[in-house]
Amino acid sequence: TRLPMRIVDIRETAVPLKSSLRNAVFDFSEMTTSVVAVITDVIRDGKPVAGFAFNSTGRYACGAQMRDRFIPRILKAKPESLVTDAGDNFDPEKILACMMQREKPGGHTERSVAVGTIEVAVWDAVAKIAGKPLHRVLAEKYNGGKVPDKVPCYVGGGWYQPGKGIRELQDEIRSRLDQGYTTMKIKVGGATVPEDVERVEAALKIVASSTNLAVDANAGFDRERALAYAKALAPYKLRWFEEPTDPLAYALLAEVAAIYDAPIGTGENLFSTQDVQNLIRFGGLRADRDIIQTDVPQSYGIAQFSRTLDMLKKNGWARESVFPHGGNQMTLAIVGGFGLGGCEAYPGVFGIFAGFADDAKVENGYLKLPDRPGIGFEAQNALYAVMREVSG
Ligand code: MG
Repeated sequence: TRLPMRIVDIRETAVPLKSSLRNAVFDFSEMTTSVVAVITDVIRDGKPVAGFAFNSTGRYACGAQMRDRFIPRILKAKPESLVTDAGDNFDPEKILACMMQREKPGGHTERSVAVGTIEVAVWDAVAKIAGKPLHRVLAEKYNGGKVPDKVPCYVGGGWYQPGKGIRELQDEIRSRLDQGYTTMKIKVGGATVPEDVERVEAALKIVASSTNLAVDANAGFDRERALAYAKALAPYKLRWFEEPTDPLAYALLAEVAAIYDAPIGTGENLFSTQDVQNLIRFGGLRADRDIIQTDVPQSYGIAQFSRTLDMLKKNGWARESVFPHGGNQMTLAIVGGFGLGGCEAYPGVFGIFAGFADDAKVENGYLKLPDRPGIGFEAQNALYAVMREVSG
């Protein structure tokens, strides 16, 4: 009999993001990310298949948890317990369950990024073994086989930077529109209300309509400022107002929603299905317009995300309401595979950890999905060089 395929090693390295950006709450000067390589004994194109991922944007590297608990659990498990019943591929659901052994309920943030990053790297390996792009594998498993060839993509930008004024902000937006994007998100909350209103008005002059401009407060407001911004921004009817409150301040969020008619976006700083359930139940959010922004590699990964989508559906939320946080190829595959609302992009920021294939082109606000097995990091030269180094 044939031996089950095996994960022979999982390696993690913390890599600095090297960014000079600042949002309303903090700067990125110390930010790192965990790059993970899941190495298998499955041979494709004459080489062992390795799956890769990194922990998206805005959460520090978390190698300690990976090395102490999650990696050893996978490597110690019986190989046949980690593969599909047919034995023809690894089973991410089973690998997630393996990592979650002996984990007490709750305490999501301590482990959800570590578990999710390893889980997404497993999916990269799964798709490479299947010889399909990850978005196709996900569409077949989770979206009735509906495989789009492109997805809507908007720019997360408009950061505060030393020496950056109104004109520079407008130049930034103009250059993104020139690249083929149509929708732009800018930061608010790092200045005063009148200054930020001036920034919003200046940005609106560049984009075609108010539905092409979103703002992001990065959860930096207390009650007084959250309500002041809601009042000041409501008349502009923007695409969405992102994170007006602390991620868990559901009652305050409901207060904001009560005076802010246009869409609200939030959820990038919630890490479990249960937290998102509380958000829609107690945060005053409206299924007909608001936006959920889970970051999948930071929230236990793709299998768990499918449960979040099931929960949302039961509560009347469409997949088009979900715009996952993180402008990278992992998110792109997830948006395409599950048929979500759209993908974020950070052109020119966050260095090698932002963006898509080196030759990716945006057209009229849409990004074509890559046609190569796996997540497609191989088409991002600088990032893939780091990943190859991590895999050893
Ligand atoms: Mg945000």
